Amino acid sequence: MESNTYDIIIIGGGPAGLTAAIYTSRAFLKTLVVEGDAPGGQLVLTTDIDNFPGFSQGINGPELMIEMRKQAERFDTSFVSINAEQVSKKDDGSFEVKTTSGDTYLAKAVIISTGASAKWLGLESEQKLRGKGVSACATCDGFFFQNKAVAVIGGGDSAMEEATFLTKFASKVYIIARKDKGELKASKIMLKRAEDNPKIEFVYNFEVKNVLGTDKVAGLEIHNTVTSEIRTLSDIEGVFLAIGHKPNTDFVKDIVELDPIGYIKVSNNTKTNVDGIFVAGDVADHRYRQAVTAAGMGCMAALDAEKYLNSLNK
Ligand code: NDP
Repeated sequence: MESNTYDIIIIGGGPAGLTAAIYTSRAFLKTLVVEGDAPGGQLVLTTDIDNFPGFSQGINGPELMIEMRKQAERFDTSFVSINAEQVSKKDDGSFEVKTTSGDTYLAKAVIISTGASAKWLGLESEQKLRGKGVSACATCDGFFFQNKAVAVIGGGDSAMEEATFLTKFASKVYIIARKDKGELKASKIMLKRAEDNPKIEFVYNFEVKNVLGTDKVAGLEIHNTVTSEIRTLSDIEGVFLAIGHKPNTDFVKDIVELDPIGYIKVSNNTKTNVDGIFVAGDVADHRYRQAVTAAGMGCMAALDAEKYLNSLNK
C-alpha cells in the first residue's frame, strides 16, 4: 500500500472521529485521521465534563480528547493536523481526500466527523472586534475578563453554561436573550443555576445592534425586539456569543447530500447517499449533540465502514 493510501480516512478529530479511529485501527484497518488544524473538536473548548460515563468525578474536555487520541494512537492510527478541503470519488470507487495544504490521501472508505462550529451574529462591529473582546469561547477567553463586566448573547444551555463559567472571572455577566423570560431554550436546571447566580443579570427581549469600541470592546448597543427601545450597556468589556452552531460541511457539499440547514443527511444509521462515505457526530446530528452520542455514532460508523470494506473484498 502506498504511503498516502489507507483503508479508511476519518475526517475530524473530535469524540466521533477518534472513537471511529479506535475501532477501525483496532480492526487492523490502516486508518488516517485528518484531524484539522484545531484538533479535538468542541470539547477542547470546554472545562468540566460531568456526563461522559466512566469519569465519576468528571473530566476536563481537553484531557478527555488527549486520552481518546492516545487510545487511537495505541492501535497505530495515523494523524495529519490539517483541514480537509475536498472529498472526491475516483473511477475505481475509492476516495481522494485533498487537504488545504494541497496534499492528497486515498482510501476505500471515508468517515466524516467534522462536527459543528459556533455561529456569529454577522455584525461588522462583531467581526472587527473578534479577539479584541468578542469571543465565542468563554473557556478560552474568560480569564482575560477578571473583574470586568461581560455579556453573553443567547438563551440556550450554551449561554447559561458560558455565563455561569464567566462569573468565576467577571464582576458581572449580562445574559442578553432575544426572547422573553419563560420562552428561553435553556433547560430548567441550567437556567435556574444562572438565575441563582448573583453576578448574572438577564436582559430579556433584546438583540445586539452593535458592539461598541474601536480597538477593544467598550460597550454594547442593544435593541428591544418588542418595544424597539435602544439601550447602551457601556460597562461591558467582553462579548461572548452562544447562539448555536453551524455544521462543518462546506467541504463536502458537492459530494454528499445535506439537509436544508446544512447537516449531512443520514440513512441506515451512519450512511450517506454515497456508498463508502459514512458520517458520525454533530456534523449529522443537531438533536443530541453530546460527546457521548458523538462517540457512540463514531463506533457505529466504524463498524458500518468495516462491513462495507469487507464487502468489497468478497
Ligand atoms: P440552542 O440552539 O439551544 O440555543 C441558541 C440560542 O441562541 C437561543 O436562545 C436562540 O434564540 C439564540 N439565538 C440564535 N440566533 C441568535 C441571534 N442571531 N441573536 C440572538 N440570539 C440568537 O444552542 P445551544 O448552543 O445553547 O445548545 C445546543 C445544544 O447543546 C442544546 O441541545 C443544548 O441543550 C446542548 N448543550 C448542553 C449543555 C450541557 O448540558 N452542559 C451545554 C451547552 C449546550 P431563539 O430561541 O430566539 O432562537
